[in-house]
Amino acid sequence: MAVKSQIWIMRDYANCSGCRLCEVVCSLAHEGRIWPEASRIRVFKYVPGVEFPHFCSQCDDYPCVAACPVKALSVNESTGAVIVDEGKCIMCGKCIDACPGHIPHKHPAKNHVVICDLCGGYPKCVEICQKAKYNVLWIVDRSGLGKQTKLYARTPKEISDELVIRLYGEFGRRFL
Ligand code: SF4
Ligand code: SF4
Repeated sequence: MAVKSQIWIMRDYANCSGCRLCEVVCSLAHEGRIWPEASRIRVFKYVPGVEFPHFCSQCDDYPCVAACPVKALSVNESTGAVIVDEGKCIMCGKCIDACPGHIPHKHPAKNHVVICDLCGGYPKCVEICQKAKYNVLWIVDRSGLGKQTKLYARTPKEISDELVIRLYGEFGRRFL
């Protein structure tokens, strides 16, 4: 089935239960087995009770793609996802440094980075999150979001700190 328009995965971190179903389905889809370390979406927990998923937000200017010295990264024009050419990647880490959220990460067993590819336009993490009724992840139309997508390219620590304050108020500052 052809993708009609570019999608984007909206996220409400506060709804996350830390079930990690997103990691399970992502690694099953990309690696053929349950392998959270190889998942393109990863759940972080810095503070007990505050868990959230972390993954590519398809920045409008794609600094990771621009930073790659061997052109191992490209943008899929129909989905907007960053695609990793695993054979070309030399694991220099320049895309990780260029990403405002340090989101690309090393595959646990192979010599290349992994980045969310939006499952070709039908992301399985969203499907399972919706089936489980957590509604942390859902699909929106990317057109009109413009530069907003990049606002979500943040490090796990930045996301965690903001979420802790959102959930626990000023009391939460003692956990930062
Ligand atoms: S780690 Fe791989 S994809 Fe990232 S910049 Fe280096 S060669 Fe390119
Ligand atoms: S969030 Fe990071 S990995 Fe994704 S497009 Fe932006 S710079 Fe690249």
